[in-house]
Amino acid sequence: MADAKDRFCRNCGRGYHLFRELEPDEREYVASQKGPDVVDRYRRCTNDGCLRVQRYHNASEGLDLPEHLR
Ligand SMILES: [Zn+2]
Repeated sequence: MADAKDRFCRNCGRGYHLFRELEPDEREYVASQKGPDVVDRYRRCTNDGCLRVQRYHNASEGLDLPEHLR
């Protein structure tokens, strides 16, 4: 699945941002929180310093990555 463009980010608030596919260490964390069967549905916000990961089609369904993945 491709990167998600022009998505609302709950953490960044204003405007829209590019969400990219997860790196391996990010996938591992999301899988541990949400389950390995749904990890492919999540994308990460590329805005500077943002830790938000959310679903491709649902901005309200997501989580924050831990600080060491910033
Ligand atoms: Zn963001």
